[in-house]
Amino acid sequence: MRQPLVVGNWKMNGSLQFISNLLHSIQSNIDDKISCEIGVCVPFVYVGLAIDVAGKSSIKVGAQTVSEHTSGAYTGEVSASMLEELGCHWVLVGHSERRQLFNEVNEQLVTKVMAAQRAGLIPIYCVGETEAERKSGDTFSVIEKQINALIDNESINLTNLVLAYEPVWAIGTGLTATPDEAQEAHAFIRQLVKNKAGDLADKLRILYGGSVKADNAETLFHQEDIDGGLIGGASLDANAFISICQMA
Ligand code: PEP
Repeated sequence: MRQPLVVGNWKMNGSLQFISNLLHSIQSNIDDKISCEIGVCVPFVYVGLAIDVAGKSSIKVGAQTVSEHTSGAYTGEVSASMLEELGCHWVLVGHSERRQLFNEVNEQLVTKVMAAQRAGLIPIYCVGETEAERKSGDTFSVIEKQINALIDNESINLTNLVLAYEPVWAIGTGLTATPDEAQEAHAFIRQLVKNKAGDLADKLRILYGGSVKADNAETLFHQEDIDGGLIGGASLDANAFISICQMA
């Protein structure tokens, strides 16, 4: 049995006040109806604040990217051990905005996952096809390349990892994969992991991301291989985020 997980990706939004208010509101609305694990991935500069505000609550804080390097002359970068020292739990790796806007590629992303795991963080490795790739029938080959780059690497610990399927055309667009489309991609990803790691694949959580809202979360989360969500826009609204957590 996989415990559902809902993670908010706050992207480059907020201020000290906003982050503090949002986290307080989420926290004060967590009740017995919520049995999923909850995470929020915040901008680097707010990690410390978010960890302080989250305190002893069940919300686990994460970052949105991490350096693949351990330390040294990498101006502007933040290492996995720095994040771990602050108390981070998760780190997103390979979000489509990192892939598209910052040219991060599979090979580099795998080294980021390794760096995160070495430091004791749980990476959330994101994959997904663009609209053009889906239209040209390349969805599954793209996903396969992204997943195989990771699982073919013997240094990756598959027990300390979360995957996220996020079709790029659905991120921040209001378009969502249908529950069947999402389930098909999730089942495909789980099978790829199964081919490599057998039964371990059944324990691996695979989140869906792409315009998940309170009104579409339930049908998505009902799918067999969808273990929760990675939530962008809707995670900036405490009520919407809490409703999504309740569905999970
Ligand atoms: C995301 O950024 O990971 C995401 C899924 O965004 P949105 O929910 O806004 O589509």
